[in-house]
Amino acid sequence: MIKPYSTLTILFILYLTGGIMGGLFAAGVFTVMTAFSRYYPPLRDYAVYAFMAIMALGGVYAIILTISVILRREGIIPTRKVIIRYMTKFADSLARRIGFDSNRLARSFIMLNNDYVEKTLKKDRKNIKRVLILLPHCIQLASCVFKVTTNVNNCRKCGKCVISSFLRMSETFAFDMFVSTGGTMARFAVKERQPDLILAVACEKDLMSGIKDTLGLAVIGILNRQPNGPCYNTTVDPEAVEAVLKNFN
Ligand code: SF4
Repeated sequence: MIKPYSTLTILFILYLTGGIMGGLFAAGVFTVMTAFSRYYPPLRDYAVYAFMAIMALGGVYAIILTISVILRREGIIPTRKVIIRYMTKFADSLARRIGFDSNRLARSFIMLNNDYVEKTLKKDRKNIKRVLILLPHCIQLASCVFKVTTNVNNCRKCGKCVISSFLRMSETFAFDMFVSTGGTMARFAVKERQPDLILAVACEKDLMSGIKDTLGLAVIGILNRQPNGPCYNTTVDPEAVEAVLKNFN
């Protein structure tokens, strides 16, 4: 079982990412303003002020980000969106270069996203009427002849894969379930069903891109297990999904 990084490590990676992104932006503004100062000399002074202002704003944002990440709460500035949409890609390539593990990092960001979503939703859990569980098609036993991607009720509940566990779970909890063959189908299902909460099961890479694509929605990512390698006869711990469902029932 791959362990996600600690909050402190994640904060370190975010500071490094934010520092480099902010520094490059400030240096870019400074360079452009200095270049134009030959036409308007006071611009040279303004360039210094602009550089310092950007760095100061970056410092303030770092404080807001730290508090938000520690408390797992959105601040005045939407921190989840900034981290997941804008910082993860750069953070991932940077962190890999300095020796961090890409999968552990993705897991850490998925857990961070889940904590944010759960905290936000818990306040008004009564409003969560429609829950959608999105499963990847590789979770179905590859040799099964019953096509669950068109209709999950085609499953005969033989118990050879976890689809049957989810169908049994649906007798206790109210949720909609969709087995998707890819991102396009998953997006279509989300658009069609308009859920208040999505529980998405997938690998690190697919969960990260799915969460990024649906940042306006409440998505909780649950990592699959791959005892036979990626994309083939994968599985998931149904109890992990059930635990989330219990939280919102
Ligand atoms: S549990 Fe359902 S989907 Fe899985 S192998 Fe059995 S019949 Fe097929």
